[in-house]
Amino acid sequence: MRLYNTLTKKIMEFKPYNDNEVTMYTCGPTVYYYAHIGNLRTYISEDILEKGLNYLGYKVKRCMNITDVGHLTGDGDTGEDKLMTAAKKEHKSVLDIAKFYTEAFFKDLERLNIKKPEIVSPATENIDFYIKMIEKLLKDGYAYASGGNIYFDTSKFSNYYELSGRSKDDLMLAVRDDVEADNNKRNPFDFGLWFTNSKFNDQELKWDSPFGYGYPGWHIECSAIAIQNLGEHLDIHCGGVDNIFPHHTNEIAQSECYLGHKWCNYWVHMEFLNDKTGKMSKSKGDSKDLNSLIEKGYDPIVYRYFCLQSHYRKVLVYSLESLDMATNAYNKLKGKIKNIKSNLSGQLEKDKIEFYQNKFKEAFSNDMNTSMMLTTLYDVIKSDMNNNTKFYLIEDFDKVLSLSLLDDEQISLEFESYIRKKIEERTLAKKNKDFALADKIREELAMKNVLIKDTKEGTVFEIRK
Ligand code: AMP
Ligand code: ZN
Repeated sequence: MRLYNTLTKKIMEFKPYNDNEVTMYTCGPTVYYYAHIGNLRTYISEDILEKGLNYLGYKVKRCMNITDVGHLTGDGDTGEDKLMTAAKKEHKSVLDIAKFYTEAFFKDLERLNIKKPEIVSPATENIDFYIKMIEKLLKDGYAYASGGNIYFDTSKFSNYYELSGRSKDDLMLAVRDDVEADNNKRNPFDFGLWFTNSKFNDQELKWDSPFGYGYPGWHIECSAIAIQNLGEHLDIHCGGVDNIFPHHTNEIAQSECYLGHKWCNYWVHMEFLNDKTGKMSKSKGDSKDLNSLIEKGYDPIVYRYFCLQSHYRKVLVYSLESLDMATNAYNKLKGKIKNIKSNLSGQLEKDKIEFYQNKFKEAFSNDMNTSMMLTTLYDVIKSDMNNNTKFYLIEDFDKVLSLSLLDDEQISLEFESYIRKKIEERTLAKKNKDFALADKIREELAMKNVLIKDTKEGTVFEIRK
């Protein structure tokens, strides 16, 4: 397995710390709103990484946090706590907000065939361990108290700039808008480990601690949850590219100063999904979540397929037209597989199975080349193997791809209600003699492979195979 490692800026041979067991940590969502489809692209890639490693024979122990406290609107410890802002807006308690959006996130995972990590841990359930880590960092001189808060002293960690690969001056220029002057800090990139006195004082969730009544910073959560659940040596840490600085940079600093040795060997970062206007962001409030795609008649699995067509280290630009194209390709693929499934015959061809499995492994091992993995699937379908062998391989590859390739053609209830809504809109348009709109709706449905026919009993539809 060869993986690009942000730490070394190279594609490297992957070797876990313990022979066949891989520990993997994923930064989880900040649950103040629905995950947007950009966030979900990252979780899809992480899911493929875990399942692909399983396919290669590794046992993967994976852990993810749920950020329900401490993530401020500015990554440089500025602004309000994101959950607190949402709670005020929705007139609910912070914990109610967290519970609601955590459940919504799990539902999204399920709809996208993403396996929930073995360990999922909310930030608010690990306060004792943050305190333990912060106490040690203070004792060893890596942290200091100032203005009522505890900060990590970045000048004490000589490798602080290694992950980002940028110099201090360069970073200062890059993030100057995000780093507000905080006179309590000794160095501009020092970050809060514990706040008892931040600019933002009406934090709903606070805990007693040796440093005063307060709440943890965002970064300490991931270090503590990872170390507590996966041990002192971590194989893979992943997240979106926006996490490289400051979040993951800070995680490395505090974890390695706490442990006294190197912590994580492979840092894997997923590139962004953008829309045509640029970066997608939950806090901009105009984000696209999975529900909004479903309401427009797109199958979540088509979104997964769309993501797998491109490489995780390339920016992916999303538009409804590109999803229409993915829908068509996916439906055609399912049609071909259905054909194979209904004409099963022949003995399993063992050599060919091994040949294609190796090709599939090779594609995954090539820095998780998902489009090459899909190509291997198409190669199997196009090949001259008998249908039993093809079926076997499709089922096998789908353990990693998770595209519901063998599910019987059945449209989801959500898709059916979308079609019915569109038909009603079209009937109304025709009644109002707005034929342009009626045609537009027909075309819209046809783009999604839905063919409509007007009969004496009303409008009926069928799905084009
Ligand atoms: P958050 O809930 O904001 O903490 O983000 C959850 C995950 O999504 C993190 O790994 C982020 O790095 C990642 N992420 C945020 N925005 C995007 C985007 N537009 N495209 C892909 N991943 C993203
Ligand atoms: Zn994290």
